Amino acid sequence: MRRVLVAGNWKMHKVPSEARVWLTELKRLLPPLESEVAVLPAFPMLPVAKEVLSGTQVAYGAQDVSPHQEGAYTGEVSARMLSDLGCRYTIVGHSERRRYHHETDAVVAEKAKRLLEEGITPILCVGEPLEVRERGEAVPYTLAQLRGSLEGLNPPGPEALVIAYEPVWAIGTGRNATPQDAEAMHQAIRQALAELYGEEFARRVRILYGGSVNPKNFADLLSMPNVDGGLVGGASLELESFLSLLRIA
Ligand code: PEP
Repeated sequence: MRRVLVAGNWKMHKVPSEARVWLTELKRLLPPLESEVAVLPAFPMLPVAKEVLSGTQVAYGAQDVSPHQEGAYTGEVSARMLSDLGCRYTIVGHSERRRYHHETDAVVAEKAKRLLEEGITPILCVGEPLEVRERGEAVPYTLAQLRGSLEGLNPPGPEALVIAYEPVWAIGTGRNATPQDAEAMHQAIRQALAELYGEEFARRVRILYGGSVNPKNFADLLSMPNVDGGLVGGASLELESFLSLLRIA
């Protein structure tokens, strides 16, 4: 019922010429897919993604967006610009943005709203830092972040939103959540979404796991009933490991 999504977050890696080679090779080597695949490069690579991936099954999108619609906001990139470039998805609320750019839940919610206005699906990230998990408060912390980041947001349907559970201590550390811990959090997130948007919405919305996903741990994580795919950082940079993840999905 929920189609698995494997989304590669390139973060601040690669340059447009490298992206062109990588994406062209991905297109050539893409295995037959039941799942959905998306590549999320930095802004300057999006025109290349549009050129190389248009008309293929590979979706693409950005890693961030402005909370503003348009105007005198130097350095910002609007949802309308992303829509014009053909973005299907865009990350909001990644823990690196929350941490290094002090993004609050309210800002994340505004960003998600701008995306929905343009028909782009937000991949909205939530997750707890290590000290919160060690205190045994991972679930309430993450659900509070989820509710705050969805404040005032009315997705038109379950396909219009993707949630990514990314425990901060697992991102880029080589240390992933156990499939059981991920499943418990995904269940709690789905329950919270049922309270916000109804049972049917919650049954159909996708919840990805992110945090040191690699070809060795992905199958076990995906075998969990509430894990609907992966938001993948490091393992999405090398084409071979990304292709391995796609074969598993
Ligand atoms: C991420 O960038 O969202 C991420 C989960 O990174 P990594 O897979 O490298 O932990």
